Amino acid sequence: MCSFLLTSLLRLLLLLLSFPSLLLAGKEGRNKQPQTPPVSCIKSADNHNPPLLLNKSPQKELRDGRSSSSSNDDLSILGGSFSFATNCHAKPPKGSSYEGFTTMQEALLAAVHDAVALAQAAESLPATSVAFTHYFKGDPQHANFVAMMRKIGDQSDAYTVEFDCASGKPCGPQSIAVTDATVGEPSTRKTIQICNTYWKSGATRYLLPGTSTSPDPPYRSKQEWCTSKPTGGANYYATAGHSLLHEFTHLDTLGKQAGLSPDGDGRHGTGDFQKGCELNGARTQLDSWVKDTKGVLASPDYNAESYAATATGKGILLLVVAPAVGNG
Ligand SMILES: [Zn+2]
Repeated sequence: MCSFLLTSLLRLLLLLLSFPSLLLAGKEGRNKQPQTPPVSCIKSADNHNPPLLLNKSPQKELRDGRSSSSSNDDLSILGGSFSFATNCHAKPPKGSSYEGFTTMQEALLAAVHDAVALAQAAESLPATSVAFTHYFKGDPQHANFVAMMRKIGDQSDAYTVEFDCASGKPCGPQSIAVTDATVGEPSTRKTIQICNTYWKSGATRYLLPGTSTSPDPPYRSKQEWCTSKPTGGANYYATAGHSLLHEFTHLDTLGKQAGLSPDGDGRHGTGDFQKGCELNGARTQLDSWVKDTKGVLASPDYNAESYAATATGKGILLLVVAPAVGNG
């Protein structure tokens, strides 16, 4: 059904296996990585995923039975506890792929659903899974990954987030979203600042395709996921849910529950340590870490995008391509 994607995954696996085995046992990420920045953000340039043709027709309902209610009543079904600042009640900016949504809150809620779905799809990944070994290696990384996914997809309010759509500080010109990574408890409300770039970036332009056959963007069709020449390579598969999942891993309380060690300021959340963008950058981070005989680089379980990349790899197989293939 998606032979190109499966073939590519196999090729990438073979490529990884071809690297010399330079992994040093017992390398720990937190103590050997640069200090976690005071705030965490995605700084993905728009040119990774050039705009595709957008359907400007109004979107009348959300897919998959997702509630289009502007209330927070239905948010308890999600992994964490979510709320939205009143500035998220405004319509998404013109030119955004989300123009069909009535409010930014609706669009963000759809992305939250995707993030949770990706986490739930990935939480039982074995350490030998291709989706895992593309971006991580062994334990404790696997244990930390599984715990992180379970907490993000958990229904016991493992974290509390408020989205703010003002695009204020600390958003930078390249920022998609910025998460408050300071120390807090699961019930401590932490703000994720949604930046203007979020509404137009290639990394957040699309939601996962649902069971609906609606061709309306921002739902990339199942056929498009299997294109033979994805623009931007693996980064093509980044989605809004992928990017929010990335942000969630920055939360101190989730890092702590996942088993990550604190940095010098007591923060347990992940950082942004990879040099490249999105999935490709996460792949390079693993390669660099494996080759890092001096032990100065952060291990992938301390890198936010590594989690999002693996969850997306699994999510594409399980949720998009063919559930029968994605199992296991
Ligand atoms: Zn980040």
